[in-house]
Amino acid sequence: MTARRLGGSTARVLLAALALLQACTPKPKDRIALVGGNVISGAGDPVLRDAVIVVHQGRIETVAPREGFEIPSTAEEVDVTGSWILPGLVDGHAHIERWALSRYVIAGVTTVRDVHGEQDSILALREEANLGGLVAPRVYSAGAMIDGPPATYPSATEVATPDSARRAVDSRAVADVDYIKTYIHVTPALFRPLIDEANTFSIKVTAHLGLTDALTASQLGVAAIEHLSGVPEAASPKPDKFYAEHRAGFFRGWTYFEKSWATLDSAALARVAQTLAERKVVLIPTLVLHETFSRLDDPAILSHPDLRTIPDDQLQRWNLPEMIARAGWTANDYPAFRASRANQDLFLREFRAAGGRIVAGTDAINQMLVPGWSLHTELELLVAAGLTPQDAIETATRNAAQLLGADSLGVIQPGKVADLMILGSNPLTDIRNTRTVQRVMVRGQLYNADSLKAGL
Ligand SMILES: [Zn+2]
Repeated sequence: MTARRLGGSTARVLLAALALLQACTPKPKDRIALVGGNVISGAGDPVLRDAVIVVHQGRIETVAPREGFEIPSTAEEVDVTGSWILPGLVDGHAHIERWALSRYVIAGVTTVRDVHGEQDSILALREEANLGGLVAPRVYSAGAMIDGPPATYPSATEVATPDSARRAVDSRAVADVDYIKTYIHVTPALFRPLIDEANTFSIKVTAHLGLTDALTASQLGVAAIEHLSGVPEAASPKPDKFYAEHRAGFFRGWTYFEKSWATLDSAALARVAQTLAERKVVLIPTLVLHETFSRLDDPAILSHPDLRTIPDDQLQRWNLPEMIARAGWTANDYPAFRASRANQDLFLREFRAAGGRIVAGTDAINQMLVPGWSLHTELELLVAAGLTPQDAIETATRNAAQLLGADSLGVIQPGKVADLMILGSNPLTDIRNTRTVQRVMVRGQLYNADSLKAGL
């Protein structure tokens, strides 16, 4: 029916009724206003107390003091009075699987930097997560890592010649990976063509080093180094012994590398730290990995409450006793690993003092590294190593966003993506308070942490 077929007065009455109806029907809510929280922007600003954050279409529209601010009428108001609002955290070193995704979100981790998986399945999972259909963090991925001969894992791509190194980079560029990850058997002779090819696509290379020391890798153009790998090799007067162990097997190399820290000269470590900082290499130290594996003889680690968030079948797949048997570790090894931790912390302090950039990462979902909560432990360990809580938070927010080349992440400012976590207590006075997660927002979608937990 159209108004033209009606008499003029009937049409007028209908139009008036319609106008009245529109006036009475509340406009649909198209915004969320978080009201009353204390905002830690992640950009180094002072805390904005009693603030309002308005979120619209997945982005932060406004950050303002509550007093005198008129909340838009189309905003759904959420009272978060007295809470602490931070950018969502980024796990800078992860290996994701589907079961882990919602667990990251529950812990306030809204972005993960995946650094190796089966190439097809990991990139498919990245797409699925990033389309927003799952309760999942944003996912960045290297696809499958590149290793020299012999490849340590069958899921990695083995390259033995400069040509094959270039081809491995090309195939990853076609698959649209976010960066390239190399593994322990990549030698300087393979790094050269690999990085040259990656540069033609403007793809960054990040390395878990073994047969190349950290200073050589930085000279060749590696953008980031995982696990502090290659540092002892660069600081030791006898690097050849390391390379022999890396060639003898993954755990042989790791064990020798891990124990070596206690023997290294502090001036040599400081020189390496200084040079890496000057060359703007980003370090993802994964202290939680070093710390956890140094305490596998400690009942407190084996019964850590965070482990209760891991599904039983995954605990079985981790099969810790089998891993320890494979590594060949005995009771004498753990005190030796623990003796190395002080020099790892010292090295990080030197690197930081020289202006180096650190990114928090965990190596979850490897054994004992709990997706989400292990990143909070990493922040505690970074503070124990000498960072302030503010600096530690930035390793998991702004620094990580810069490493990913994603300037819309990692800070709470108008125009940035709406990825936030809402805490019950102030993490600047005690870094352990990052664990007091009440609500999490990813892509503008607000979740209650307890409800998500209940749904696991
Ligand atoms: Zn890893």
